Amino acid sequence: MNTIEKCVVCQKSELEEFLSLKDHMITQEEFTIVNCKNCGFHFTNPIPDKKDIGSYYKSEEYVSHSSSNKGLINYLYNVVRKRTLKQKVGWIQNAVNGKRLLDIGSGTGHFLRVAKENGFDGYGLEPDEDARNFAHKENHVRSCDQSELYNIDKNSADVITMWHVLEHVYDLRKDIQRMHEILSAGGKLFVAVPNMNSYDARYYKSFWAAYDVPRHLYHFQQKDIARLFMDLGFELEKVIPMKYDSYYVSMLSEKYKKRLSLFGVVIGWISNRKAKKYGYSSQVYVLEKK
Ligand SMILES: [Zn+2]
Repeated sequence: MNTIEKCVVCQKSELEEFLSLKDHMITQEEFTIVNCKNCGFHFTNPIPDKKDIGSYYKSEEYVSHSSSNKGLINYLYNVVRKRTLKQKVGWIQNAVNGKRLLDIGSGTGHFLRVAKENGFDGYGLEPDEDARNFAHKENHVRSCDQSELYNIDKNSADVITMWHVLEHVYDLRKDIQRMHEILSAGGKLFVAVPNMNSYDARYYKSFWAAYDVPRHLYHFQQKDIARLFMDLGFELEKVIPMKYDSYYVSMLSEKYKKRLSLFGVVIGWISNRKAKKYGYSSQVYVLEKK
């Protein structure tokens, strides 16, 4: 395990315990989320060493990498995914003029496929070899190992997307700086992450499925994103809600509480209603290179 001494957002080292919680998804191990007393950023601490994190992903339940239709939650996840893929492509079409797309954490390549069908010239980076092979064979899109991030030409992308990926990244500041180099002038970065300020996060506390420790290293709020990226040469241009995520995350949280997952539909609905105050369960941040 690796203890982090400094806040990744403000670099100060006064940290306090915020929440103790389990890895509900896979190992049932206990983890801690800390709060930076200086800037209020929350992150998992300590975290597994980078070389060991793979063992926390080995589960058929980790639906991000599977397309199985087993169980109600997975079924809904797949139905909603089809709809949201088109939505995501629409968002980037509206925001950028160029067509050169880099998708970081491209997984099985479903998003890249839909982007390609809509005229984008894109490729992905993905650490998991099985997912990369699936992307090539089934979705006919290009993806390379994550380590290639440091070999990509400067100013070679008009848009970079990270759909629920940033919260998993070990070298956060360094990788964001690299993305800044890869983007062309005025290029945009789309970052989708869970929002720990949301109503559903407040309601479920240690059972909130989007804490997802230890796979999620960081637990962002809008203010954290704005500050971190401003520091690294970006400006927060827009925040887009992901309205389905509140339902999905709430249903999964109910499952962890061993209650009927359908209760989650109610909480998800309330969360979206209260989003004006707390923000949505997950949000997309559109960041422009400055
Ligand atoms: Zn801080």
